[in-house]
Amino acid sequence: MQEGALRRRVKRELERLETVFGRPRLGRRFSPLDELILTILSQHTSDVNRDRAYASLRRAFPRWEEALRASPSDVEESIRVGGLARTKSGVIQAVLRRILRDHGRLDLASLKSLPVGEAKAYLRGLKGVGEKTACCVLLFACGQPAFPVDTHIHRVARRLGWVSADATPAKTHAVLADLIPKTRYLTAHVNLITLGRRVCRARAPACPQCPLRAGCRYAALRRRRARADGLGTRPTLY
Ligand code: SF4
Repeated sequence: MQEGALRRRVKRELERLETVFGRPRLGRRFSPLDELILTILSQHTSDVNRDRAYASLRRAFPRWEEALRASPSDVEESIRVGGLARTKSGVIQAVLRRILRDHGRLDLASLKSLPVGEAKAYLRGLKGVGEKTACCVLLFACGQPAFPVDTHIHRVARRLGWVSADATPAKTHAVLADLIPKTRYLTAHVNLITLGRRVCRARAPACPQCPLRAGCRYAALRRRRARADGLGTRPTLY
């Protein structure tokens, strides 16, 4: 598909998702440092367990200085409910140490006034902070134009044909950050995740109920396969 046609299609499909799922409002607004810790806790767990782990961490250590000074085992214990507690507690304390060293205090508010590329480069330089985590902090806590791509968005974009079927997460991120208008980043991020969780599930996408089925490459592949063998066999998942 030509680039201009793809851009128009993505815009149309994002508008369709807005019609179906609405335009989300940011319910929570954390400081950049709070958002960073919350996003570290979100890795490989559900939103519910992430929120439980965060609440438990803040109960145990109301100030980040206390979490930094605490013994690693106490931090680990406080976030056990979120899974991967040993790894995440190590990342959290390493990140706090580095921020204190770089800024003289445990605060990342200065990121808000940096150009987005510089702010992202700083976050990416912190131990255990990848592209998605950095973009979440920038988008949700700094109001900066960064587009986080999680596993749902990566899957949905490949199935729809917005990116190639064999695109890596990094490629998907680069393509979507360019294709999606910056003013739509927040809404597109939330609505694509909603689509991935409710409809375009990893193992059993509900294509007949999908608002984007008309233009979807994967749905067309399924239909072709079903017609070919008359059995409705599954296409290779991607
Ligand atoms: S039509 Fe099916 S594969 Fe395509 S985005 Fe919707 S649920 Fe996913």
